[in-house]
Amino acid sequence: MANTVNQIIKEPIISVGIILPKDKKTEIVIDLPNPSNYKIDSGSLSKRLTVKCQWDAILINNKLVNKFTIEPIDNSNNNEFPPHTAGFPLRSNNYPIIQSVTTGRGFHWQKEIQVQLPGKIIIKNYNRYLFIINELPVEQYLPFVATSEMSPDCPPTLLEAQTIAARSWLLTNRKVNHPELNIDVCNDDCCQRYQGVMDVPDQSLQVIRKTYGQILRYRNEICNARYSKCCGGITESFENVWEGKPIPYLSSIPDFPHYSNQTNDLHNFINSSPPAFCSEKYVKSSDIQKYLGKVDKSDSYYRWNISYSQKELTSIINQKLDLEATSIINISPLKRGYSGRITELKIFYTDKSNKNKSIVLNSEYKIRNVLHKQFLYSSAIIIEQKTQRNSLPEKFKFIGAGWGHGVGLCQIGALGMALNGYSAGNILQHYFKNTKIEKIY
Ligand SMILES: [Zn+2]
Ligand SMILES: [Zn+2]
Repeated sequence: MANTVNQIIKEPIISVGIILPKDKKTEIVIDLPNPSNYKIDSGSLSKRLTVKCQWDAILINNKLVNKFTIEPIDNSNNNEFPPHTAGFPLRSNNYPIIQSVTTGRGFHWQKEIQVQLPGKIIIKNYNRYLFIINELPVEQYLPFVATSEMSPDCPPTLLEAQTIAARSWLLTNRKVNHPELNIDVCNDDCCQRYQGVMDVPDQSLQVIRKTYGQILRYRNEICNARYSKCCGGITESFENVWEGKPIPYLSSIPDFPHYSNQTNDLHNFINSSPPAFCSEKYVKSSDIQKYLGKVDKSDSYYRWNISYSQKELTSIINQKLDLEATSIINISPLKRGYSGRITELKIFYTDKSNKNKSIVLNSEYKIRNVLHKQFLYSSAIIIEQKTQRNSLPEKFKFIGAGWGHGVGLCQIGALGMALNGYSAGNILQHYFKNTKIEKIY
């Protein structure tokens, strides 16, 4: 998994899953604004292709094939495909458009969008479902990742830091999440969000030119540069969120300009609003919407709270865990990470036959999934349970900090740093200790 820096000497080509077999699509439409720029394995191209699964094969405009590739015509001597002018991405209205691509798989923001794709498009039949892959050079993929994750109105230093982190993440996480499909990454949040080239602004393309081939290096390796939306004031350590050994540059840090001893008492820390880079002091909540793009409705991710009645929480937990609890007796954190994120939580409940039972959730991901109808922003929560004497809690209140797993770069904190004059190098060295930026191709 870990890539040593010397292994990569030229810009890699990556494969991105756009429509996955699990999307269960059997029919799709692809528009080609300029078919004469493209070649295909067989048959002739038209402006609109209707693609269907037919048994184990694919039917393209009523012609049956096993596999179908739409490839830009190479106008250089390069073996790779254009547009590939020195690796820089181009924005073009001529790229093929795939209608109804699923994004936000499994989340409440799941929807179908159109995507316009540079590079090569490969269409396969995978167990009778469509499987569509986009193959393209890394530097053409990256600007579209950076802007899907953040708004182009962000300060350029933030986009630079985000792009270098995304490039490093990509080169260390190829083939990790989808081994059965043999693709490098998918198009969604499970890997990195990639929604094609529509509406990509000039700023993103400039950032790519400026940081072309630059990665974050730790010793002889490219960093597994994780990031999340908002750490909540302290970042989390890798080993508290994912399986595996601690990674030195992904260990917890206070997200403050100077070491802060406010971080010693987690309960107070979450209950108050200390002046971290991701706090109101550095980024106004009213600005978050503007810089983060239309990712979610709320504008308060640093500190937030949510309350449930006994009945509401019982019903959510029953649905999420497939239980038949009649009431929740108590919710008790067993373990917390450095950022206050709960990594192990015990839920005590009463079942149908009035027996007391309990269940343990052993990851921040499961906890976030179970304690919210959709998904809790983060598991860094203080739980207040309002109980009358000897009776069940009537109300549960979660006072929370941050959004996401909190490991590595804090996107809102990085925004706070960028808005306050810090450089991309400053930002990356703050979140990923003892690393340096290096150009590898
Ligand atoms: Zn994925
Ligand atoms: Zn932060």
